[in-house]
Amino acid sequence: MKSVAIVGAGIGGLSSAARLARMGYKVDVYEKNECAGGKASEKRSKTSAGTFRWDCGPSLVTMPHILRDLFSFCGEQLEEHLVLKPLDPACRYFWTDGTVIDEDETLWKHPDVLAYLEYAKGLYETSAPLYLEKAPRDWWKNLAQGLFSNIQHLPKFIPTQSLAGLNRSFLGDPYICQIFDRFATYNGSSPFKTLSTFSIIPYIESTFGAWYPQGGVARIPCEIEKLARKEGATFHFNTEITDLCNLNADITLCNGDIITAYRTWLPECSTGKDIAEYDLSSSGYVMLLAVKKKFERLLHHNIFFSDHYGREFDDLFNNRSLPSEPTIYIAVTSKSAPGGDAPEGCENWFVMVNSPAAIPFHTEDYDEVIFRRLEKFGIHLTQNDILDREIITPADFSKRHNAWQGSLYGWASHSVPTALFRPSMQHPYRQDLYFTGGTTHPGGGIPLALLSGKIASEIIREDFPV
Ligand SMILES: Cc1cc2nc3c(=O)[nH]c(=O)nc-3n(C[C@H](O)[C@H](O)[C@H](O)COP(=O)(O)OP(=O)(O)OC[C@H]3O[C@@H](n4cnc5c(N)ncnc54)[C@H](O)[C@@H]3O)c2cc1C
Repeated sequence: MKSVAIVGAGIGGLSSAARLARMGYKVDVYEKNECAGGKASEKRSKTSAGTFRWDCGPSLVTMPHILRDLFSFCGEQLEEHLVLKPLDPACRYFWTDGTVIDEDETLWKHPDVLAYLEYAKGLYETSAPLYLEKAPRDWWKNLAQGLFSNIQHLPKFIPTQSLAGLNRSFLGDPYICQIFDRFATYNGSSPFKTLSTFSIIPYIESTFGAWYPQGGVARIPCEIEKLARKEGATFHFNTEITDLCNLNADITLCNGDIITAYRTWLPECSTGKDIAEYDLSSSGYVMLLAVKKKFERLLHHNIFFSDHYGREFDDLFNNRSLPSEPTIYIAVTSKSAPGGDAPEGCENWFVMVNSPAAIPFHTEDYDEVIFRRLEKFGIHLTQNDILDREIITPADFSKRHNAWQGSLYGWASHSVPTALFRPSMQHPYRQDLYFTGGTTHPGGGIPLALLSGKIASEIIREDFPV
């Protein structure tokens, strides 16, 4: 029996742990924190009104078929372990002029949007089997196989414009355009710098829907951990690995941030220098608020847009400062879990503003900037309405998850190399060292991290058959 040491119990590490154990490898997972989940973690707090629960990372899941595929690979039915509920509308978007748009059938059926989605469909149907679901080392082979049936879509991969440029060429309505620009932030990038190829993100959300697991997103890693244990994997929590090259196993698979791995634990490798040369994806300034009040206008997901969206990305990626007029994201999961995530008459707010990674900035008083901004949308929250609050900064993301300088997705997808050729899943000269997760191929977010775990397990099976 060959042994695999997996470093990190994030979504990618868990996905590969369950698959490799199922394939017949002896799997040990080493996680520095006290539980599995990585960025998809949760927090609870007891207050005078009762207990609140927050998702500290994702609060929306798409492409549920990828999760279903993992469970069926291990001989189980997803639905027997997790109940996924559709979020419809997936999100409510607010502007200071009073405009409100819901992300629902009406938006997806808008004539401009239909034309856009038709364009993006071709991109998705080409990139999913050729790129997203396959090992990058097989890229040329896959391309050759898919060339004939998908040849008409290949020009769409030649990046002649940014996502924002593509959005403007299809979408006449500036409000809808801003909604579609925002999809670039799903992988921590700027719509004005990222490739038009990322029009597949709204296509994916419109086609596969937005879902929320009953009990919270942290149920996902929890159930995958159980699945991996059932297949025989062993978990070692509170165990930080600082030497990736001398673990007692035939194969090492690192699920920690790949930039941190090269810069911190593999400093002798020249990849470490090259890997940190590109723009980092954004981080976040997060407030977890126990709110003693209900806001009927809010849904599970809410976006309060900046009036100057371009300036916001300038602040994030050029000036490297917290936006002076931020777009504010508020997730209130108690809307989907009445009685579950917040006590009666209360709401659990997860408030997030995109922030740059890597800079030491002052966050004092930034929550006041956010509250003052929310007032412009008629959302009045006073200190008296808040029973408990926790602030999470880029430094906290770095400390808790070993995320390089707090960036949430490794590289920002601001160029062809960083968007389409993510850091390799294999070490350049150590044949037994591999990488998986949102900072490597095919990218960040729960579904892609799950796919990354699947691809890593398939590469390992090919190189070290059992
Ligand atoms: C605020 C926020 C909101 C998000 N929203 C969404 C969303 O709505 N939808 C969505 O799909 N995705 C979302 N994401 C992204 C998603 O959470 C991540 O892309 C995904 O969970 C990353 O999984 P991963 O496999 O890369 O592992 P990670 O989550 O990065 O976990 C890596 C694990 O490795 C451990 N580790 C690192 N180094 C070591 C070491 N040396 N020794 C031992 N253990 C180590 C870490 O402690 C961590 O547990 C969000 C993320 C954040 C932070």
